[in-house]
Amino acid sequence: MIKNKLIIVLGAGESGVGTAVLAAKQGFDVFVSDFGKIKDDYRNILINKNISFEEGSHNRVLEITKNVGKETASIEVVKSPGIADSVPIIKSLREKGIPVISEIEFAGRYTNAKTICITGSNGKTTTTMLTYHILRNAGYNVGLAGNVGKSFAMQVAEDNFDYYILEISSFQLDGMYSFRADIAIITNITPDHLDRYDYKFQNYVDSKFRILQNQTENDFFIFWAGDSTVANEIEKRGTSIKARKIPFDLTSQTDNVPNYAFVDGKDIIFNNLTNKLFLEMETNNLPLKGNHNLYNSMAAGLASQVAGVSKDAIRRSLETFEGVEHRMEYVATVRGVRYINDSKATNVNSCWYALQSMTTPVVLILGGTDKGNDYSDISELVSDRVHHLIFLGVDNDKLIKFFGCHRNKEGKKIPYSEARSMEECVQQAYKVAKNGDTVLLSPCCASFDLFNNYEDRGRQFKEAVRHL
Ligand code: ADP
Repeated sequence: MIKNKLIIVLGAGESGVGTAVLAAKQGFDVFVSDFGKIKDDYRNILINKNISFEEGSHNRVLEITKNVGKETASIEVVKSPGIADSVPIIKSLREKGIPVISEIEFAGRYTNAKTICITGSNGKTTTTMLTYHILRNAGYNVGLAGNVGKSFAMQVAEDNFDYYILEISSFQLDGMYSFRADIAIITNITPDHLDRYDYKFQNYVDSKFRILQNQTENDFFIFWAGDSTVANEIEKRGTSIKARKIPFDLTSQTDNVPNYAFVDGKDIIFNNLTNKLFLEMETNNLPLKGNHNLYNSMAAGLASQVAGVSKDAIRRSLETFEGVEHRMEYVATVRGVRYINDSKATNVNSCWYALQSMTTPVVLILGGTDKGNDYSDISELVSDRVHHLIFLGVDNDKLIKFFGCHRNKEGKKIPYSEARSMEECVQQAYKVAKNGDTVLLSPCCASFDLFNNYEDRGRQFKEAVRHL
């Protein structure tokens, strides 16, 4: 007997529950399994929609799939991006030949909407939100999904958008096979999440480049041409990249190839697809500061232009974007000291950009769960701009080893202190910061040792600062 296809959803978070709802709507049998406890809101959705689930173990999944190979049942597994490929349940399912895909791959099958897909090591959320802001203000019927907000699958089940702006992490990309992006963006690639990629940078690069798979000559690939990793990879892949390439950089040409967006003196320039001037605006009018945000603005502006947004609408939206919480977010000035929440800086590269945009002496807060960080990338900027370091984490040994004897540009040791809670950390910062300084939380690390997530870390920081 041929049974209905069964969709097993692993992980009952935002993407998993969205997948389950969409799969049920499409008429599949659905079973959801979460190794941990399912949040009440999500459990209620599953109950209301009559979707079977288990929590606390994957036992029933193991049971259901026990005889795969012997039976004719067809099963597909959609896994949450948070579950690593190396966990036993995934290994066991794959060994049985059961396909394991990601939520974006699954949901992409059930919509004809056009997609603008953004990946990269840093700047994904900012670029995604900015692109969404531009299209929405221009009157497009557009949804925002991926790593931000409501899941793509849930929106495909419940809404009817013409466009989706999707922030796509490498973990989602790893489970994507047939999905095709109409417009793909790679903001940059620097080492991150190497623990999930056998500590091989190339594996991580390959994962990011999956955003181009299945693209044709009618699709677009927007990228930062000045990123040597991206540029080398493009060269290596040659004609296998089918999409039309739309590079941007701070300069009008990179390696003799013209860019479609660049900076000319005080202006940011966007060219059209025939590389003629489309829009020119003063960089000073962009509310988002720092070079990294120029890149994000170029990527978002180019994607919007390709999607047909007018130059006036792009200009207006670039000038009115207010930024995203926890990304170089200004908190307050207390006794002449500015406090900046960059809690989302969970890798070394994003901290590099944060430090690079600093124009005052800095008290820098680092620490958390290290993902295989190499701090030498920020070593020079720390010597140049930081006069006190605070290590906020359960285990600060690696930071102490690297920065314990770090010297500033005058050759003096940069003092450091350790904190085990945000309150303690902000108190220490308050004591050592001098009038005119910036206290910067840009930790280079994930937050899971002391906090629920980076949002929790950022909120606790803001609260502690407001209590000073
Ligand atoms: P992501 O979603 O890729 O993590 P975010 O937009 O949330 O990116 O920004 C994460 C961190 O990286 C923040 O600390 C931010 O200040 C910094 N950042 C933002 N854009 C860039 C960029 N283009 N290059 C490097 N760092 C960036």
